[in-house]
Amino acid sequence: MRGLMQDRPLLLSSIAEFAERSHGDVEIVSRRVEGDVHRHTYREAFARSRRLANALDALALKPGETVASLAWNGYRHFELYFGVSGSARVLHTVNPRLTIEHVQWILNHAQDRALFFDLTFLPIVQKLHQACPAIGVYVALCSEADLPQGSGIPNLMSYETLIGAHSDRYDWPQFDEHAASSLCYTSGTTGKPKGVLYSHRSSVLHAYAVSLPDSLNLSARDTILPVVPMFHVNAWGLAYAAPAMGSKLVLPGQSLDGASLCKLIEDEGVTLAAGVPTVWQGLLDHADAGRIRFRTFRRTVIGGASCSRAMYDGFTGRHGVEVLHAWGMTETSPLGTASAPRRAPADMTADERASVALSQGRAPFGVELRIVDESGAELPRDGLAAGELQIRGAWVLSAYFGADQPEALTTDGWFATGDIATIDGDGFMRITDRAKDVIKSGGEWISSAELENIALAHPGVLRAACIGVKHARWDERPIVLVMTRPDASVTREALLALYTDRVAKWQVPDDIVFVDDLPLGATGKLLKHTLREAWRDHLLAATQ
Ligand code: AMP
Repeated sequence: MRGLMQDRPLLLSSIAEFAERSHGDVEIVSRRVEGDVHRHTYREAFARSRRLANALDALALKPGETVASLAWNGYRHFELYFGVSGSARVLHTVNPRLTIEHVQWILNHAQDRALFFDLTFLPIVQKLHQACPAIGVYVALCSEADLPQGSGIPNLMSYETLIGAHSDRYDWPQFDEHAASSLCYTSGTTGKPKGVLYSHRSSVLHAYAVSLPDSLNLSARDTILPVVPMFHVNAWGLAYAAPAMGSKLVLPGQSLDGASLCKLIEDEGVTLAAGVPTVWQGLLDHADAGRIRFRTFRRTVIGGASCSRAMYDGFTGRHGVEVLHAWGMTETSPLGTASAPRRAPADMTADERASVALSQGRAPFGVELRIVDESGAELPRDGLAAGELQIRGAWVLSAYFGADQPEALTTDGWFATGDIATIDGDGFMRITDRAKDVIKSGGEWISSAELENIALAHPGVLRAACIGVKHARWDERPIVLVMTRPDASVTREALLALYTDRVAKWQVPDDIVFVDDLPLGATGKLLKHTLREAWRDHLLAATQ
């Protein structure tokens, strides 16, 4: 027997309609490429999204066609999120930090029909537009006055002129909630990027899941600063969750340095911010140096790479800002886990609190996790057994976009993440490695994440990368490459001493090497494969 309930499709436009009706006066504040701070409200933003939807109709872009964006976090990008997806087209957010070859490749692979871009990215568009024949419409996210002359880009329009020519009267179409809403490619550090095609249904369910108390705990009383880019996994879903909850949104544009972020946090009364560890390091350094006491900033969400104990201590100890550690992937929308405790803080020791906060966290209702060994057998949830992490759920991909892409799921329907993890009895997951980064020494696994965190506990260490390099006797041994703070004095011996009490003797790195730079990829993660290649023979050379 079918239930007798209304069948309302879960569409992103329903978030727009809700936010406009119930939170129309709530602000979106954006630091613009133009340099100033812009403010408008959800009411104004969604009226402009509707103008955009009419403009896309006039441009004869069909439902299901892809529209690309190359843009920072800003109000015009936000309007695209709803104007494009709400009108049944697919918004393809492109990561401008990818190599130009990859950007060009994904624009063609996605068969994008239109490209909307911030003026910062004009040089990229100038370089690749001739190689992207499917794109017939180019729109610069600026006013007519700022439109560059003689750019060489055919029929380049300004966004303000485009939407200004159309009415804000538009009825959001109703269609199948399984229709595609947006497209995001993985960063592709090895091989070609792979496209993840989100649906309206998955995005709406994910917006609910992100907002839950044991996830990011969002409400109408929050002012949210997504430092995580809107060009990568929909700013962790915050661009949808914030209007769904009626939270004020603060969008930082391209100024992601500590000083600019601190100013925005203080000026706008930000209560919660989300970003990757490298960005937060800049913010912490600035806040420490200026002895800044945050007025309203209470919670930070850290994900994309692992949060170190030093960073946790910095936020919680020195600034009274709670740390929520979260794990996810492009393929998982991204929320897979968040580290909210299961018990009241008063019932835990300081070390227990830190251990829980620094775990990657628990899965919310809606996704399931398991770890498996090399034969695919499930491993126990005892906090000790480490195996490949697999995930399934309503906002986890089922297949990559495009017929030429590899199968994404195991035969029994799980997505194999490529991360190595433990899960404890309370469900807290801890990443010990990427499968391809794991170090196998004499047949035993050594966690590169653990060895990196120990080095990062030294106040003089800014960034650390632990990699496995060739070893004549043990196949592979760990070494740690360390980038120090400019004025710090750190010795190899002092760092090695940190390891002796903390890990088994055979896990202590064979060498600590000081380097001037540790390269980061397009989404702020260490480029370990480059490092492994560069340092592969380091220990062999030393023993010869
Ligand atoms: P991406 O698809 O580019 O967002 O990258 C996803 C990958 O980032 C995951 O598979 C993990 O390897 C890594 N990652 C994400 N969040 C965390 C975290 N909190 N701790 C450690 N690694 C993380």
